[in-house]
Amino acid sequence: MIFRQLFDPQSSTYTYLLGDPKSGEAVMIDPVFEQVRRDAALVAELGLKLLWTLETHIHADHVTGASLLRRRLASRVALGRQCGAEGADRLLAEDDVISFGDRRLMVRATPGHTNGCLTFVLDDRSSAFTGDCLLIRGSGRTDFQQGDPKAMFRSVHDQIFTLPDGCLLYPAHDYRGLTVTSVAEERRFNPRLGGEIALGDFVGHMNNLRLAHPKKIDVAVPANLKCGRPDGDDAASADPDWAPLLYTFAGIWEITPHGLEEHRADVQVLDVREPDEFDGPLGHIAGAILIPLSTLAARAGELRRDRPVVAVCRAGSRSAQAVTILQQAGFTDIANLAGGMLRWRADGHSIEGGSA
Ligand code: FE
Repeated sequence: MIFRQLFDPQSSTYTYLLGDPKSGEAVMIDPVFEQVRRDAALVAELGLKLLWTLETHIHADHVTGASLLRRRLASRVALGRQCGAEGADRLLAEDDVISFGDRRLMVRATPGHTNGCLTFVLDDRSSAFTGDCLLIRGSGRTDFQQGDPKAMFRSVHDQIFTLPDGCLLYPAHDYRGLTVTSVAEERRFNPRLGGEIALGDFVGHMNNLRLAHPKKIDVAVPANLKCGRPDGDDAASADPDWAPLLYTFAGIWEITPHGLEEHRADVQVLDVREPDEFDGPLGHIAGAILIPLSTLAARAGELRRDRPVVAVCRAGSRSAQAVTILQQAGFTDIANLAGGMLRWRADGHSIEGGSA
């Protein structure tokens, strides 16, 4: 199975991408609105078709990327029936099954943090996604959004600790950078819920956590009750539109040779190779400005700021670094020529100088 654990540093949220390699079908658990561009790039690069986004619950600390992913990738939105959200394509309840290719996730109701919390268990019970119910050596809080420590205790003991010892548990958050745990170790070492700890002990612990109110709750909960459609806000509108660009999981905007050819007249082509390469056998793009990468930081002022820049090198690696350097210098409309001069030539575009 294809499995990726993604992180949003702002909210310390984990997003999980699960894909069936044979069919390419995939699901994503707990996407974060601000990370949709990144996550959609990964789905594309892995050649996956995102069928579903799944929410473990209505989050109070971040807005879900579910609706934006639905618009961009035509994925469908599923979350717990008890969440009371509008706009989902499917409302989930205990024992429901979400299929992607040959794989399945089973739904377990694990209320306590909220009353709509779900845990998703992989078909072979090798891993489970516990949302904000069980965290690594911790648990979700129970002091707002229908929080109920008694319900959480029952959820953990009846629905999570009953999974096989070796079942890996992936939470929705971790604030220390821990990534995964297992049923056996949480049953033994969880300081709130493990060992001989009884219901009364847990309730006492939870009722005295004295946590600060989540900063984003007043924005996040109303948005998430609509599957993450913040009013008037659309991360897609921030995408550059000066040429057809592709955002990569590496974090760089790319343009294809064809795209550059189409927009040749509107952009500055910046060649960051060495002079002997510029005049060498690969040739260069007509009108390209030569500024070798090692001198770019000092010479960025030679470029116009009112025209987009497309960075070029031999194969696209040094020019990717040029994009980063120009971003640091305050340029905004910049893209990397995918595949560099090698692909430019292979795709049959014209060169100046060089040899056939
Ligand atoms: Fe939560």
